[in-house]
Amino acid sequence: MCFRPPSASKPKKCPNCDALNPPIAKNCVKCKSALTEEKKEK
Ligand SMILES: [Zn+2]
Repeated sequence: MCFRPPSASKPKKCPNCDALNPPIAKNCVKCKSALTEEKKEK
């Protein structure tokens, strides 16, 4: 639990369709919705 690889994190869950996307995905592979888990853009 202490180790946290920078490139391999948890899969992102699409807020739109609940599909699981790879952590590197910026857009949902299913519905192409933007995966904005963190509030980076405003
Ligand atoms: Zn989706």
